[in-house]
Amino acid sequence: MKKNLYPRCARCTKKVCVPLIKVDEEPSLDEAPAFCPMKLMTETVENSLTEYDKPEVKEFARLASVQEFECYERLPDGLRTKIPRIEELVQFAHKCGYQRLGLAFCTGLSGEARILTDILENKGFEVVSVRCKVGAVPKERIGVKSEEKIAGPDRFETMCSPITQAEVLNAANVDMVIMLGLCIGHDTLFIKYCRVPMTVIAVKDRVFGHNPLAALYLANSLYYERLMTKTG
Ligand code: SF4
Repeated sequence: MKKNLYPRCARCTKKVCVPLIKVDEEPSLDEAPAFCPMKLMTETVENSLTEYDKPEVKEFARLASVQEFECYERLPDGLRTKIPRIEELVQFAHKCGYQRLGLAFCTGLSGEARILTDILENKGFEVVSVRCKVGAVPKERIGVKSEEKIAGPDRFETMCSPITQAEVLNAANVDMVIMLGLCIGHDTLFIKYCRVPMTVIAVKDRVFGHNPLAALYLANSLYYERLMTKTG
C-alpha cells in the first residue's frame, strides 16, 4: 500500500460494494476509487472471507443477517423499521440459543442496568452483571493525582476497572456480554480483555443522553459548529 493511499470508505461516492445489480450479476471494481480497500488490499479482503468457512462463524453471521432482515417490515410504500435495539438484542440472543448473559455497566447508569436486567430476566435470560467500580480500588493505584479526582482530593474515589469487569465475565460462563455505558478508554480496555462474544447496548455520552450521534446531527448547526472547526 502506498504511503498516502489508504482505505477511505467514508469518502467514497461510488460505493461499488453495494451495487444495484441483479442477483446473477457480478459486482465490478472498474468504478471503484483508488483508495478502495477491495483494490488496495485485495488479499486481505479475500483472506478475511475465509473465516466464514468456519461453520460456527458462518452460522453466527447468518443469524446476524436474519436478525437484520427481521428489523424491517415491507409495506406497499416501502421498507419501515420496526424493532428498537433492545428488542433486537433479545431476539438475537434467543436465536443464538443463549441463556446466560453478562452485563458490564457503568455505575453512572445503575438505573439503566437494573431496567435492562429486568427486561432480560423477564425474557427468560439469566443475567450476570458487573459494575465498573468492581474491586473498590482507589484511583491512586493507576497514578491518578488527587487534583484529578472528580469528587475532590480528600475523598476516596474508586477507579473504574474494565479489566476486572472483563475477567469476571470471562470466568462467569456467560454466552454473550452486553456493554452498557462505559466511558471512552474504559470501554477500549473492556473490549481488549473480554474474551466472550460481546455487543454494545449503549456508549456513554454525558451530554446527549448516551446518544453521541446527536453531536453529529448538530455538527452543521450554529450551536455545535465548533465540531467542524479545523484544529489539527
Ligand atoms: S469498499 Fe470501495 S466501493 Fe465500497 S465504499 Fe469502500 S471505497 Fe467505496
